[in-house]
Amino acid sequence: MTQTLEQKLELLDVKGYHKVVHVTDKEAGLSAIIAIHDLTLGPALGGIRIQPYGTFTAALEDVLRLSKGMTYKSAVAEVGYGGGKSVIIADPKKQKTAALLMAFGKAVEQLQGEYICAEDVGCTTEDVKVVRRATKYVVGLPHDKSSGDPGPFTAWGTFRGIQATVKALFGSDSLEGKTVAVQGLGNVGKNLVEFLFWAGADLIVSDIDAVKADMLAKKYGARAVSPAEILSVPCDVFAPCALGAVINAQTIPLLRCKSIAGSANNQLLNDQDALTLQQRGILYAPDFVINAGGLLNVAAELHPKGYQPALPRMQAHKIYDTLSAIYDLAKKNKQSTHEAAIAFAEHRLKHGIGKRTVAPTFHHSAD
Ligand code: NAD
Repeated sequence: MTQTLEQKLELLDVKGYHKVVHVTDKEAGLSAIIAIHDLTLGPALGGIRIQPYGTFTAALEDVLRLSKGMTYKSAVAEVGYGGGKSVIIADPKKQKTAALLMAFGKAVEQLQGEYICAEDVGCTTEDVKVVRRATKYVVGLPHDKSSGDPGPFTAWGTFRGIQATVKALFGSDSLEGKTVAVQGLGNVGKNLVEFLFWAGADLIVSDIDAVKADMLAKKYGARAVSPAEILSVPCDVFAPCALGAVINAQTIPLLRCKSIAGSANNQLLNDQDALTLQQRGILYAPDFVINAGGLLNVAAELHPKGYQPALPRMQAHKIYDTLSAIYDLAKKNKQSTHEAAIAFAEHRLKHGIGKRTVAPTFHHSAD
């Protein structure tokens, strides 16, 4: 691996991962980890997370978990990409400089397309534009060839997943009169609430921003509840669209929903939570299956003909079928839905199903 005087790329030996690189650049003040989990189906695609992790181990654990999750998400969504993610250990409010972002881009460039980066927590599309000055292996830039805000696509895929969930529970996918409780009314949640409204659902909404919650409640005739209350409202579907780890040993006893189907990443604190939900008879839509709309949208940017929104719309629509297949599989194999989704992804990886046959096309320039 090429090194320059200022920049050092150190390969970390991590079992089960294609390549994990610790990047340091003293001059730019950069310490970052790029984890490429799996390239079976195509180049690794995943966001850049910028966070002031307390320790290097915490950063490493996070990037390993996130990059593996991307492998599964991509495999199930059939986008023809592998799993990757990166973390920059820095405070995004204080330490995010152009030099730092460009030094990171330089490291991505050295990986020669094995890893394609995008925005994530702590990293904006404007930041990704700075990274682009040092590497072409970037998606989600703020310009006219970009796929733009992924929120509506994630919301549409989540909506379709909720329909599939209701079908599995009640035998019909009609949302007429079904109660859906949405936690978090940001880019995904606010669009999801609108789709649910038009489909006839009875809505309960919550956000830490009470003004936002009240505004949407008024607009859609929903009931706004506090962030503490949303977890325990009786409902057919609880849709977490805010935080990770919202389903855990403390919260599961509080739940009074028949199912959980929302967009948040890493909803389960750990795998055991999936089994507890199964024992409680709560149907869980695995997060990396139901929330793939945003990934589908950003991946569409790399299509040889350029970004066309109809493609990710159609693909996000199909989340209904994929999730239904996973529910069937879980039932047949007496597994939790989380286990079934992982088995589904691993089957695709084992047999190369959805493997990329055409190299991604980067349509953007460095301006
Ligand atoms: P966002 O930051 O736009 O919105 C999150 C909302 O949740 C905000 O309005 C925030 O005030 C609210 N919130 C935070 N804590 C809360 C709490 N305890 N109770 C109630 N509300 C709370 O984020 P987003 O883009 O809408 O994404 C939502 C979730 O979906 C995140 O977990 C994200 O990782 C995941 N996701 C998003 C996309 C996408 O396309 N944006 C794709 C895949 C997954």
